[in-house]
Amino acid sequence: MLYRNVPRTGDKLSILGFGCMRLPLTRTGGVDEERAIRQIRHAIDCGVNYFDTAPIYHFGKSEQVLGKALAGGYRKKVRIATKLPHWSVFERADMDRILAGQLRTLKTDHIDYYLLHGLGRESFEKLRRLGVFEFLDAAKKDGRIINAGFSFHGDPAAFREIVDAYGWEFCQIQYNYLDEKNQAGTEGLQYAAGRGLAVMVMEPLRGGNLAGRVPDEVKAIWEEAPVHRSPAEWGLRWVWNHPEATVVLSGMNDEAHIDENIRAADTGQANSLTQDELARIERARDTYKRLMKVGCTGCGYCMPCPAGVNIPGCFAEYNAHVLFPHDRTAKFQYIGRYGGLLSGKSYAGLCRACGKCAEACPQHLPIPALMKEVSREMEGMMTVVVPVLKGLLWCQNTAGRVRRAITREKAHA
Ligand code: SF4
Ligand code: SF4
Repeated sequence: MLYRNVPRTGDKLSILGFGCMRLPLTRTGGVDEERAIRQIRHAIDCGVNYFDTAPIYHFGKSEQVLGKALAGGYRKKVRIATKLPHWSVFERADMDRILAGQLRTLKTDHIDYYLLHGLGRESFEKLRRLGVFEFLDAAKKDGRIINAGFSFHGDPAAFREIVDAYGWEFCQIQYNYLDEKNQAGTEGLQYAAGRGLAVMVMEPLRGGNLAGRVPDEVKAIWEEAPVHRSPAEWGLRWVWNHPEATVVLSGMNDEAHIDENIRAADTGQANSLTQDELARIERARDTYKRLMKVGCTGCGYCMPCPAGVNIPGCFAEYNAHVLFPHDRTAKFQYIGRYGGLLSGKSYAGLCRACGKCAEACPQHLPIPALMKEVSREMEGMMTVVVPVLKGLLWCQNTAGRVRRAITREKAHA
């Protein structure tokens, strides 16, 4: 296992991080706890020391399982990363309450890497208004958290603003050879690293899509290579090749894949890919892009949209959906990110066909017409699913508030 240093602290992290958002499941769809715990401990025994979880992963089960897995001496061998869900924060006190619950669930007295979860401009402004900087300062001072960071799903301009707004130790971005210009992208990676932040990379294989059912044309490109590597290894090696990437997170749930990723991490030095290898990855990327429905490069020149549509984001999820039609992840992500579930609404159906974006698009994409197509294909169930899920989240938050009010009343009585 190779390790890289966090620039501001010198903390040594394994270049492969264990993402606990896709733990193994039982036949009935629950988390297979025993298997997940075995996998987590095996990864630790092989040198992985960074474990990333969040309250929303597996609806709370991910933090619970990680807490159990780290019993018996494993806790002191690893760094835990977990996140503050901005959609459950309504006042300053919620931040302390949520963190206290996470410490209990994870059976620890501190979180090594604490992130504000899934920030975009709007959610960041909300947390800032509610006093998140003061919360982070206080939690760091009394040792409940060690390093403060944020994960990000917005546009490059918002990313730079957030990086500059606080003394973060790290951030977490989506990055892979298909997403160089999507969300924070290469520009964001270099910007954050240039400001001294460690950069944790999520979705290095686009939720497994660059490693699972690879299109035949891309498969041929890998098979012709003089060095045999799996599609997953090519994807991981591409991210590790960037010296700015500190940890690459992989959401692992299969023993063979865990071992394959751990082996790949032995050779993931920065700048280790040859020109020929980089050219081969570029060919794979071009092939994927050709097979995609919309030739959006994610440059963002069309933004902001007066109707609030996240144009490149909608296209990115639509492309993923068309390329991998059997995988529902893209639809879920579309609904979560743009349907108004976890932050403001920015889905394609909001388009008013003003045409402003099409004038600015260097790819000359007929954006208003494409927005109609995206809306038709991606938003079928959205009007039903979003209110139901929002209702569930509201019930969960309200039940928590009622319970806390009762406890306070009893304490005062
Ligand atoms: S055409 Fe639609 S997507 Fe484009 S800027 Fe106007 S409202 Fe936004
Ligand atoms: S300007 Fe065109 S290519 Fe660039 S992000 Fe917008 S739609 Fe995509």
